[in-house]
Amino acid sequence: MSQLRAAAAARGVRRSGGRAVPAAGQSRKGASPRRGAPAPAPALALAYHLFSDPAEAEALRGSLLAWYDKCKRDLPWRTLATTEPDADRRAYAVWVSEIMLQQTQVATVIDYYNRWMQKWPTLQALAQASLEEVNELWAGLGYYSRGKRLQEAARKVVSELAGRMPRTAEDLQKLLPGVGRYTAGAIASISYGQATGVVDGNVIRVLCRLRCIGADSSSPAVIDRLWDMANALVDRSRPGDFNQALMELGATVCVPKAPLCGECPVKQHCRARRRKLFGKPTPVPDVEDCCVGGCPLCPPATEPWNSSLGVTNFPRKAAKKQPRVARTAVGVLERRGCHGAPEYLIVQRPSSGLLAGLWEFPSVPLAQGLQEEEQREVLADHLRAWTGQPVVPGALRLIGEVIHIFSHIHQTYVVYSLPLDGDVSLDPTLSPSRWVTEEMFHTSAVSTAMKKV
Ligand code: SF4
Repeated sequence: MSQLRAAAAARGVRRSGGRAVPAAGQSRKGASPRRGAPAPAPALALAYHLFSDPAEAEALRGSLLAWYDKCKRDLPWRTLATTEPDADRRAYAVWVSEIMLQQTQVATVIDYYNRWMQKWPTLQALAQASLEEVNELWAGLGYYSRGKRLQEAARKVVSELAGRMPRTAEDLQKLLPGVGRYTAGAIASISYGQATGVVDGNVIRVLCRLRCIGADSSSPAVIDRLWDMANALVDRSRPGDFNQALMELGATVCVPKAPLCGECPVKQHCRARRRKLFGKPTPVPDVEDCCVGGCPLCPPATEPWNSSLGVTNFPRKAAKKQPRVARTAVGVLERRGCHGAPEYLIVQRPSSGLLAGLWEFPSVPLAQGLQEEEQREVLADHLRAWTGQPVVPGALRLIGEVIHIFSHIHQTYVVYSLPLDGDVSLDPTLSPSRWVTEEMFHTSAVSTAMKKV
């Protein structure tokens, strides 16, 4: 492709599939660039980081879809998306899978998904479920607010939208709580065939490698560019398959640490691979290289290309914030049930915030730096409120510590046990509480962290 054509493509509005698509670098609404957007870059630099040649974009679509048709994993939500004739049911099936797959591996999701769809095969069925039932089924999947929001949104569709799912990505995002831009794009493209792109972690990795985008891939400016690229690249006749193919490539071939470039169906379009094979860009500017100093999409000058990393130079992210460190004392209260089997007291967490509505052993946050004796006293005070009877700190037996990593919290649970003689009266004005056997505990809506405890 000539430099002139590349420069022209990067300058203005491109036509794609009969629809005008703003070139990357322009605001989607055509307004002046918003705050945080990169400074306008020379056309040559943009061309290097885009799919400016329509023939190349078409070839990439063809190779990717042919590979997907041959190699795609057989997954229950994919089967439903292709076999379910009813558009609302199809969209619901895709929606559930997309919410479950956020932050969770496919292998873990399959069993949860099958049980969920068996129990609540339609929006209407989910809308009638209680939050307790949703939490019970979700237990162990993590990020519990996802299940709650899914159910709230299902109730909204049934009560306010007459049971009809919104039919475009824009309306899905606007009308359904908990549905963001990615989920809306996935539902609309897979269920309705709307020609709209998606950008998730897998797509970010693949696109950044294909086009050597080394600027911070979590920055709004780069994310905007990637959305423009995904929307321009999506196959107009098979948008759902194309989006799934791009994500599948990222999940199975273009993986984070050791990508299988030799098996990659789009390797001939990959600039990161080219850079790895042929080394540094040539000193004479060419559309195959980005030689423009200060390019907003290249790796920053402070972190140049590292040849030992090869294609994994891309994508790059700003350093993650360190998780907050927290300590919590947990009291496992045990009594003999009516048949002599041990029973344990569990209490319900508040209906908002971390692990909302889930059940746990009575727990109390600890200030940092407390001595063991002080921790015991804090917990004894807390348990006194639950049991309505004095709890002597010395009666609490230290069992050990359990560490659980939430996405943003490094949590240590300090676990104590307290065997009780006879019954205790629980204060009904406090959060709901109940006694459960070990078996009941495991089928209750409890978090993975509490199961570890
Ligand atoms: Fe990813 Fe390698 Fe394929 Fe490039 S060639 S897209 S780096 S797997």
